[in-house]
Amino acid sequence: MAADVHMFTCLSDNFGALIHDPATGATAAIDVPEAEPVLAAAKAKGWTISHILVTHHHPDHVQGIEAVKAATKAHVIANAADAHRIPLVDETVAPGGKARFGSLEADIIDTPGHTVGHIVYHFASEKILFSGDTLFSLGCGRLFEGTPQQMWEALKVLRALPDDTAVYCGHEYTGSNAKFSLMVDPDNAALKARAEEVFGLREAGQPTLPTTIGQEKATNPFLRADDAAIAAVLGMRGRLPAEVFAELRERKNKA
Ligand SMILES: [Zn+2]
Repeated sequence: MAADVHMFTCLSDNFGALIHDPATGATAAIDVPEAEPVLAAAKAKGWTISHILVTHHHPDHVQGIEAVKAATKAHVIANAADAHRIPLVDETVAPGGKARFGSLEADIIDTPGHTVGHIVYHFASEKILFSGDTLFSLGCGRLFEGTPQQMWEALKVLRALPDDTAVYCGHEYTGSNAKFSLMVDPDNAALKARAEEVFGLREAGQPTLPTTIGQEKATNPFLRADDAAIAAVLGMRGRLPAEVFAELRERKNKA
């Protein structure tokens, strides 16, 4: 039986996500932006949170861990390199390794950039990626700790995953990302269609996620920093993709 993912909003623009393994009943929360909505979401589904998979240490991803752990005794899994700044870690994992819960396992992919210890969880057999604050729909995370080169390399690894991989991100930023993407990639028909869809969903108060790797490859300018059309719009023809990526991120910061 395939894993079941339940996504919901919390805080002002965070997404919470639960992944449930029907074979064993195990349920993992991906980060805990705040405890109450995460516990309520699990209860509504009739699931009990057995594990917490942490993507990175920012407060809006870890501040609910203590309360959820107190309520459920959930087992907290985080990047060994970041365990010192994430609360109540029970088990550390390393990039290139696996995180296991129930009968499911996720590949741990290193994605330094937003933070240096950021990891994402790829459930290959389920075709599901929890991308935290690394990859957003039509965007990517801000570079708080890593370099543009690091983030670009990380995004290229995610871009190489199968097109039909469902992507669950940490935030609902797709509306603002869509506006920016149209400015730097104005002639992209796939992007225009996706932007229309996104504006409609946001107006209706509906989530714009999950997206897919295939859709992001076609529409997300931050995955297309090596596309000549984008370099041309930025006046950077012939420049290195990491330089184009850095300029994109810089312009988005100011947009
Ligand atoms: Zn963050």
